This record gives sequence, C-alpha cells and structure tokens, in this order.
Amino acid sequence: MATPLSADRLLAALRAEGVRIEEHRSWRTHSRNHVGSWGPVHGVMIHHTVTSGTDASVDLCYRGHSTLPGPLCHGVIAKDGTVHLVGHGRANHAGSGDRDVLAAVRAERPLPPDNQADTDGNRHFYGFEAINLGNGRDPWPAAQVEAIVRASAALCRAHGWGKQGTTSVIGHSEWQPGKIDPRGPGISMADVRRRVAERLAHPPSWSPGGSDPTPPSEEDDVPRLLALGLTRPLTIEAPHVWVSLPFDTDWADPLGEHPDGAQSFAAAGTNYTGALYLRLSGLEPGREIQVRVVEAEGEDLKKLPPIEGVGTAGGTFPAVPLTGRVTAGRKAKVMLAHFNSGPLVIERAELKLHVWKD
Ligand SMILES: [Zn+2]
Repeated sequence: MATPLSADRLLAALRAEGVRIEEHRSWRTHSRNHVGSWGPVHGVMIHHTVTSGTDASVDLCYRGHSTLPGPLCHGVIAKDGTVHLVGHGRANHAGSGDRDVLAAVRAERPLPPDNQADTDGNRHFYGFEAINLGNGRDPWPAAQVEAIVRASAALCRAHGWGKQGTTSVIGHSEWQPGKIDPRGPGISMADVRRRVAERLAHPPSWSPGGSDPTPPSEEDDVPRLLALGLTRPLTIEAPHVWVSLPFDTDWADPLGEHPDGAQSFAAAGTNYTGALYLRLSGLEPGREIQVRVVEAEGEDLKKLPPIEGVGTAGGTFPAVPLTGRVTAGRKAKVMLAHFNSGPLVIERAELKLHVWKD
C-alpha cells in the first residue's frame, strides 16, 4: 500500500506508537505538491539538520531558505524526542538519489551502495529531520533516537512495510551520493532498523523493557533526575557581580536540554524542582551569597528572585532550593553573586533537579 497517509491518519499512527507531537503552524496544508508529485510512498528517510535549538530548527524546516523552500521535511525530531510536524505532502528533503536504492527499499531487501542521483526522492519518502549539528560531537540523546525509531515504526506499520527486515527506513547518506546524515555518535541506521523491526513485532503501544532507553511519550510526564556538575573550581573576584554557572559535567540529562558545556540546564516548558549544592571557600562568616535562576531569551534575561546563603566558619556548603517552570521561548540557567570583601571560590557545584514536561 503506497498511497500517502492523510494528515489525520499520520497523526493517529504517530500517537499510537507513543510519539509526542507538536503541530507547527499550517503543517497539514504546507507542501511542495504544486511543483511535483507526492506518492506513491515507499519509505522513511532520516536526516540531521546541521542546526541547534528547537524553535529555530523547526521554523527553518517549515519555511526553508532562499534556495530551498520549505517544508524541508515532514517532522523535526527535537533532542527531547518531541516530533514537530512541519509539512504534509511533498517536501524538500531527499533530493535526487539512487534508483537501485529505491528498488531495494520497495522490495525490502539489503541496500546497494548509493552511486547515482537519478531518481526523485521527495516524491517517494517521508522525511524526518533530527536536530543535530552533524559534526561528530553533538550527542544524540536516547529520547531523540527512540523518537526516530517510533516515528519510523509508526509509518511502516501504517503502510504494512517492514515485514521482511525494514529497509523501508533509510538515512539520507544511503540515498544520495555525498550526503553524510544522520551522523553519530549515538545513532546508526542499522541500529534504527533493528529497533524498528523489534517494534513491528509488537503492538504499537509496546514499550521496550530492560536496558532500553525510556521512551519519550507519556513517561516524560514522570519526573526524572537531572544531575549536572561544575567540577573545576571557579573564582569570582568581584562582589556584586552576577556570574552564570557553566556546568561542565552531565551525570544525567534525561531531557537532553543541557548541551555540552552550556550554561542552560532546562528548556522552555520544563518543570524542575530540587537543589543546587555548593562547596564554597573564601566566604567570610556572616557574608552573603545569592543564587537565582535566570531565564534567557537571547540577550534578554528574566531574573527570578534570589535566594540567600551565609558564610560559615570552616567553609560554606549551602543547598539552595530551586523550583519552577521555564517560560515559553526561554532557557533557564543558574547565576550566583557574592557580597564578600575578597574573591569567592566555588570549589564545586552540583545541580540535582527532578525535571518533567507536562
Ligand atoms: Zn539530509
């Protein structure tokens, strides 16, 4: 069965597979159908965006750019596993690829090397763009890869594909010569296909057990532990100056909202509750520190009320309670200022929060 799914059937298939959906603007009627054919469809293609940031990436994939009009795919898969629907119909994602690969996808047999660009892929493939820089260092959170597996499985199941080994799901790099996406570490198309096949052997509501990553759907409503560390001493020379804490260590980042080395710990819409544990030296007894969460939108900072700690003899080890929900369009980070006479050294900071979406 190769007739493209209607928007309603697509949504139902994704939801049944446990995919968390965001519907972006007029995605149902946004397509390139006026410039070319859409369907028959034969498979699903996975890409990476070479961008960062959910809002900007979703908007780019909806609109496209001057040389390549949008939609640039059907769904954008964010780091937290949410699938943002941006188009329905023909989309500019696959370009021209190898006719022998298409034949293998249709027959569900092993893929030959892609060494020709003679066939219109935008006509025949659903496309998902996963947010990743594709530089070989940007991580692929487990929730994101799980969403790729589930979204692909949903389409295979709806079309009756994949009964013979799921070469119905391919990477752009397997279609068009010169393409590298999707590029790891943390993702391989062989692994995605193995997991899609595993899903297809079960009902759509199936959740993998054992050591498999937590799926991104309803389980994201359950608080999970975020644990970030600042493990190198940080000296703050001047008093009365607010300094962001650059967490250099991820012990646990279940929603994938702390990019490598970044100051932000949570993205828009994330609820958090827990504490910041500090080990300070140089703070004189009776002198204060203040800690606050700041929600940033570019240069614009929304400052939450500060919480105080007081220096004690023999070292200061405050635990600062932090609870909130990050405002739409913003990212949360932790800032600290001291009111000491001399420099303050943060020997170590540990941020331990329960985080969840709702
Ligand atoms: Zn691509």
